[in-house]
Amino acid sequence: MPRKTFTLHSSLLFDPKKKAFIPNVSIEINRATGAIIKVYTRPSSSSSEPVLTLLPGDIDLRGSNKLVMPGFVDSHTHIFLHAYTERGATEQMRDESPVERTVRATHHARAALLAGYTTYRDLGTESLGSADASLRDCINRNLTPGPRMFVATEALASSGSYEIRRENPYLTVPRASDTADGVDGVRAAVRRRVGAGADLIKFYADYRRKAMRFPRPQGLAFPPAPRALNPAVPGYAQDEMDAIVREADLADVPVAAHAGETRAAAMAARAGVTTVEHVFEDTHGELEDMLTAMVANKVIWVPTLATAAQTPYFAAAKARVKRAHEAGVRLAAGGDTGTFNHGLNAREMELLIEAGIPVADVLEACTVGGWEACGGDRCGFRFGWFEAGNRADIIALDADLRLDRKALRKVGFVMKDGRVWKQDGRAVEDVDRIPQWPDSDNDDEEEEEEEEWTDLSGAEPRMAMSVPLPVLRESKSAF
Ligand SMILES: [Zn+2]
Repeated sequence: MPRKTFTLHSSLLFDPKKKAFIPNVSIEINRATGAIIKVYTRPSSSSSEPVLTLLPGDIDLRGSNKLVMPGFVDSHTHIFLHAYTERGATEQMRDESPVERTVRATHHARAALLAGYTTYRDLGTESLGSADASLRDCINRNLTPGPRMFVATEALASSGSYEIRRENPYLTVPRASDTADGVDGVRAAVRRRVGAGADLIKFYADYRRKAMRFPRPQGLAFPPAPRALNPAVPGYAQDEMDAIVREADLADVPVAAHAGETRAAAMAARAGVTTVEHVFEDTHGELEDMLTAMVANKVIWVPTLATAAQTPYFAAAKARVKRAHEAGVRLAAGGDTGTFNHGLNAREMELLIEAGIPVADVLEACTVGGWEACGGDRCGFRFGWFEAGNRADIIALDADLRLDRKALRKVGFVMKDGRVWKQDGRAVEDVDRIPQWPDSDNDDEEEEEEEEWTDLSGAEPRMAMSVPLPVLRESKSAF
């Protein structure tokens, strides 16, 4: 029988609450609950590493090139999308089968987990209904490996905004959002999302919804001025955004607002959303207004720089994130992962560092900031820092981030809920669900088998009784 608890030992650990790198920390974990029992610093009587007795089942992550951290939280993902460089968004939503998208999603989830991402805040299935809630449940039931997921199901959007656009009105396409208008309409939509299993509400505060004025990709002989071509304009009035937040509050779930422009972002911040996503443009010079509203309402900004990097707005977006950080805006790290491939999630942290955000603040944004973006205690779990009672989501980099700019890509160890998924840089065996023959069958003599076959034609259903349902074995763990 394995011990009920085990201890993980580090020689260097990042504490996101203190924003400090701390030596010689050990963490005791309850194997059955997957929660942290105790966090303590080992006594150091001399300048050398103190003697440590490893008990069976303990995990030794000491070493000069190991940095132990809480598991990462990606605060903006789309588990059913793969890189737009492989296939555009419309083609994925319109042309890929639900089965293909689901199979892809299981690979995405595994890749993210092995990259150190133990939590995903998934902001919309992109035309796959509420399938994200089902995938979340499959992971929670240990049917497939992946991060702990908090899902939005379908985003709310006003009429004629977040849709698959086409000039042929007779072409039927899957819906890309839960269309809702008016105060009563958006309240009903929030209720639909909660009823469908959403952990949080996402809505489009603005969108490039004038696409059909000058439809692409057909060439335009005489294009209009850029601001008229297809700008992101608000999709909801202030009272509708306020109603979304109030209704979500009744259900005790957080709210994420998509905003391309500072104007709609400021409106969403005034409504009191939990997070604002993106904000790549500031056409009307309303950045400071947005930042003021964000600070006043304690709104978290998820700037998705990894996606901005694929647009002409990248340099300006980085500068605005730096300005927001200086103004005291809370940041969370989320790449809009899925528009680029899952498993490369750490790109967002690298770009936040490139934008000038201090490394410790970036790590905090990808751990504690992520937990807050998931709703904090409203999400039902504590993770993102080390404390008794928190989930034992623990990873280790095989490099010192203070010395190696690519260290965030070198995740050598991953534990989620106290279970190891990656060790020494390699995936530990995945969920093992191969049915096992019952032990009694292995002892059978030949004549007994004959007897059972003859019984098949008899009245007694012995054969059926003797073959139990497949046994689902617990996976072999690495310790
Ligand atoms: Zn997104």
